[in-house]
Amino acid sequence: MVDFSTISPHLNVKISPKAKRLALRLDAHAGCINLVIPKRASIKSAYAFAESNQSWIEDKISNLPRPIPFAHGQIIPVMGKNRTINIIASNKKYTEINVLDDVIEVKTQLDNPSARIQRALRLYAEKELKTLADAKAALLNRKLTHFCVRDMKSRWGSCSKDGRMTLSWRLAFAPAHAFDYVVAHESAHLIHDNHGKDFWKLCAELSTDYSTGKEWMRLNGIHLGRYGKSPSPAREIPEE
Ligand SMILES: [Zn+2]
Repeated sequence: MVDFSTISPHLNVKISPKAKRLALRLDAHAGCINLVIPKRASIKSAYAFAESNQSWIEDKISNLPRPIPFAHGQIIPVMGKNRTINIIASNKKYTEINVLDDVIEVKTQLDNPSARIQRALRLYAEKELKTLADAKAALLNRKLTHFCVRDMKSRWGSCSKDGRMTLSWRLAFAPAHAFDYVVAHESAHLIHDNHGKDFWKLCAELSTDYSTGKEWMRLNGIHLGRYGKSPSPAREIPEE
């Protein structure tokens, strides 16, 4: 009998037609570990495999950044400023959310307005990041032809020479010098479509605090995914 009670809340079973062998993969963004099972392998052998790697799994899980839910009283950094979520019961049909100077005010009749808060913060971040990106593009005598924010898995942004920029909306939770660096980085791609010497020189010119911002993103970027997550994220392992 395999006891998964300690590791199962963070394990996500993935049956993969492409996988050649059983594997455990950390998905730090999602805050879970994927147990990858080749199509031909049995579920039983996969469980045994996970069990034999239990200490590795527990080690990875304990090092995952702590989730920070969008809950009443929680302090969330938004665009470089700490703001406290204040949920106020309301009998209005629609949830109303205002991102104020040091408060995120949520008037709602929902028990859990977390998804609404996330949507509001995403819209707020989009507006603020676009203003910043437009300003940096203007310094280069360029215009953004397209701008959007997304949930991005492996990078923080992209930008093409013809002015199409995409940024991760989760930059909203980074300190100012860090999101400023990312916007400067992507803006510099309006001129250089590579990461050569001239690119980095321009990137430094466009950033307020280039080296600290870049270093912060390298060390802490992964933590930006923890905002809005509930404390026990993953799915249960299905019964055999
Ligand atoms: Zn780049």
